[in-house]
Amino acid sequence: MKKTLLFSLLGIAIFLTGCTSNSPKGPYKLNVVSTTGMINDIVLNIGSGNVEAKGLMGPGVDPHLYKASEGDVNTLAKADVIFYNGLHLESKMGEVFEKMSGKVKVVAVASTIPEAKLRTPPEFKGFHDPHVWFDVSLWKIAALEVEKALIEVDPANASAYKERAKQYQEKLDTLEIEIKAAIKTLPKEKRILVTAHDAFGYFGRAYGFEVIGLQGISTQAEAGTQDVQRLAALIQQRKIPAIFIETAIPIRNIKAVQDAAKAKGWNVRIGGELFSDAMGTSGTPQGTYVGMVRHNIHTIVKALGQ
Ligand SMILES: [Zn+2]
Repeated sequence: MKKTLLFSLLGIAIFLTGCTSNSPKGPYKLNVVSTTGMINDIVLNIGSGNVEAKGLMGPGVDPHLYKASEGDVNTLAKADVIFYNGLHLESKMGEVFEKMSGKVKVVAVASTIPEAKLRTPPEFKGFHDPHVWFDVSLWKIAALEVEKALIEVDPANASAYKERAKQYQEKLDTLEIEIKAAIKTLPKEKRILVTAHDAFGYFGRAYGFEVIGLQGISTQAEAGTQDVQRLAALIQQRKIPAIFIETAIPIRNIKAVQDAAKAKGWNVRIGGELFSDAMGTSGTPQGTYVGMVRHNIHTIVKALGQ
């Protein structure tokens, strides 16, 4: 009698364990939640068949201003691993990450980038520039951090993560070569990038562009009329042919600069739309990290080279 009871209990236990799997067929997949699309792209590449990857911030979403919804908090609470950028990019989510860090593995992917490689421009008032993904060599370090965390949480699949991480690093190597080749076609004096906010500082440092943003490092501060006038005067003096809008930033600020430059007698074109703090729609080339960087570089080189 006792034995029968024990067996039925065991049966129930096995049944219950089976139910906790997030896929009724196949083995358990790690539940991984990332903040930005760029981080989610690393997870999708390295995690592939071993993870259920979810990115909180879709196309056109500004991470500087993003607040976690109640639904997000529930999603985060169910995760096995949470990845975020760090360096105060997700400045409104600090409390949520703190709350989660006791229960879930929470990793800031930019946290192991050596401090000497981080930018600390004066307009950031003592903080580091968080837009590290635009220097591909720094984003490789972020990818290493994702690889390490996935292996720690799911050591049984370590070799699969390692193999895919190696392939991803190779993809990024190829991307760097492509960026450098594209820039070579643009004369040095034309390498000036004017955008809506200061997202491209690392890009400029890595690939030899002078970068001028209308807004400071975060989008939280609105650009004033004086900033617009100052930037328009500079564009007119230096005869900059094109300036750029960003997908996650309202277009009106850059339009105001264009109008102000026109009033000063210089017709500056809108050179196109750059993906800065968010990627494009998933399923399109710009919905991947490599695709967004490639889109940006070719848009910039084409517009400034004309
Ligand atoms: Zn930004």
